[in-house]
Amino acid sequence: MLGSLLLAGSRLPLVRRAVSGVPLTRKVVDRFVAGEDVQQAVTAIRRLTDTGLAVTIDHLGEETRDSDAAAATADAYVVLLDALSELGLGSRAEVSVKLSAVGQALGADGDKIALENARRICEAAAAVGSNVTFDMEDHTTVDSTLSILRAVRGDFPSTGVALQSYLFRTEEDCRDLSHEGSRVRLVKGAYAEPASVAHQDKGEVDKAYVRCLRILMAGQGYPMVATHDDRLISITETLADRFGRSRGGYEYQMLYGIRTDKQQALAGAGHTMRVYIPYGDDWYGYFMRRLAERPANIAFFLRALIGGK
Ligand SMILES: Cc1cc2nc3c(=O)[nH]c(=O)nc-3n(C[C@H](O)[C@H](O)[C@H](O)COP(=O)(O)OP(=O)(O)OC[C@H]3O[C@@H](n4cnc5c(N)ncnc54)[C@H](O)[C@@H]3O)c2cc1C
Repeated sequence: MLGSLLLAGSRLPLVRRAVSGVPLTRKVVDRFVAGEDVQQAVTAIRRLTDTGLAVTIDHLGEETRDSDAAAATADAYVVLLDALSELGLGSRAEVSVKLSAVGQALGADGDKIALENARRICEAAAAVGSNVTFDMEDHTTVDSTLSILRAVRGDFPSTGVALQSYLFRTEEDCRDLSHEGSRVRLVKGAYAEPASVAHQDKGEVDKAYVRCLRILMAGQGYPMVATHDDRLISITETLADRFGRSRGGYEYQMLYGIRTDKQQALAGAGHTMRVYIPYGDDWYGYFMRRLAERPANIAFFLRALIGGK
């Protein structure tokens, strides 16, 4: 309830100005965000990959409102992928892209602009042996994101997408995307969605996650199980046994700064454990979603405001 209120409030310009303007926020943000520029991102990538983790990097930004900014975001990904090629990590380091950051929200031409920019990022990723996964944003963007995915997969078949178990439609989307070569990141979903399109009850979201997971694990694609939830991780292991999937046949993903002990434990047990690393100065939306996910994070934020930590 508190989380939904926070998510709804976070879209108000007044709240954005208030949170962004607090001088202490940056310190708190650093718990979830790896830094403001590529150099700081590279430091975090090195630190994590040196311990056996894989990574996916997000250049922060969303809902870009002009085409120059959309092109600049695509440029930033090209620079990032150049930096990744120097690290020689291949597919151990991939990138995550929000299509609204590369033009999807730009009205009638939005899909076309986002597709062009996404292609440019996919080309740069392919050139250095890396992959791209499209994040999934609010429910109004799902059809557009899946159609851009279909368009780029023609030339870049390893391009993946996130699907959100809280949406009623997602079981069907999982069925459509469980074919050979398809990479799907399954998440619970992080946006405030209406009851007409999404489960509102956390228990129902979890049950839907299990149904979607079953479809993906039984299918021919490559499931990317993105959750910090122990119960879902153990269900994944049961399903992997049932459907004869070896450890190389699926992977786990978690967010930077969240359950780092569990990340290491899964990597240590021989799983591919990929950490989603966001960097950049447009951290507001990402940060507010992390606060909304967990009341303890709101308390952490408020304590930092009051106590200066
Ligand atoms: C790699 C990755 C990519 C993602 N991409 C997308 C996307 O494209 N679109 C989208 O809508 N959502 C995305 N998400 C977010 C996702 O939808 C969930 O909001 C988020 O992962 C929390 O759900 P959970 O499965 O961890 O389960 P929860 O039940 O929320 O959490 C399980 C446990 O994890 C820990 N935990 C979870 N969240 C936090 C937090 N913020 N701070 C501290 N501890 C926490 C707690 O211990 C909690 O008890 C992504 C998540 C991951 C891991």
